[in-house]
Amino acid sequence: LIKIEGLHKSYGGVVQVLQGLDIEMTAGDRVVIIGPSGGGKSTLLRVLMGLEQIDRGSITFGGNPYISAKSGKTAIDAKVRRSIGMVFQHYTLFPHLDVIGNLILAPTKVRGEKKADARERAMALLTRFGLAQKANAYPAQLSGGQKQRVAIARALMLDPKLMLFDEVTSALDPELVAEVEQVILQLAHQQMPMVIVTHDMWFARNIASRVIFCAGGVVVEDGPPEQVLGSPKEERTREFIERVF
Ligand code: ATP
Ligand code: MG
Repeated sequence: LIKIEGLHKSYGGVVQVLQGLDIEMTAGDRVVIIGPSGGGKSTLLRVLMGLEQIDRGSITFGGNPYISAKSGKTAIDAKVRRSIGMVFQHYTLFPHLDVIGNLILAPTKVRGEKKADARERAMALLTRFGLAQKANAYPAQLSGGQKQRVAIARALMLDPKLMLFDEVTSALDPELVAEVEQVILQLAHQQMPMVIVTHDMWFARNIASRVIFCAGGVVVEDGPPEQVLGSPKEERTREFIERVF
């Protein structure tokens, strides 16, 4: 599904964040990325989402060119970009729109979908996520867990072929974490390909088909969750896991 080759990314040419990253992901994969703070996990997801310039390397999606660096410029296929959905650590809902308004905005504006059709799809998604009674609530009236579930539903409105989750539960009170993780697990069971950055060991073990440990801007270790989390081959991975989990 996605093939990342030799990805280099710096901020302002100074801070070298990604230093030759190679990752290949199939449509059946649910990749969990772990690694030290500042290691470039969010940067990688933002690059995949088409939100960042890159210095070197290339990314293909479904076998076709998606992102590449050509003579100092980053070329991005906008159509591919629209087929990727992302949810961030801090909710990014539009505060002046109610839940339904948040969900139907992109489909009606970007795709020209009829309002009635978008509302119908939105209600079906909200029902599935246990949020039907919140359809007309504003973001400020929702709990953190509800906001994140709405953010996930909003991303799904554009029928993504890949979902990216960047620490979507780490700003939540502990009792709200499970309801958000359940929604993501539900998507996983429906075979949605995803890349997830998380510090939650239980969640990583339960959702990952592969775990990738990134540090120093490269992939240090990549394998099945039992192996990477349970008996890491690399000393750096072992140290990190003992410290964090
Ligand atoms: P965390 O686990 O804390 O979320 P991370 O692995 O997601 O960390 P990134 O947020 O990708 O790490 O940051 C990688 C490095 O890039 C850090 O040194 C950070 O300070 C730097 N960085 C991130 N965003 C920017 C930016 N917009 N401008 C300049 N430097 C940045
Ligand atoms: Mg981050």
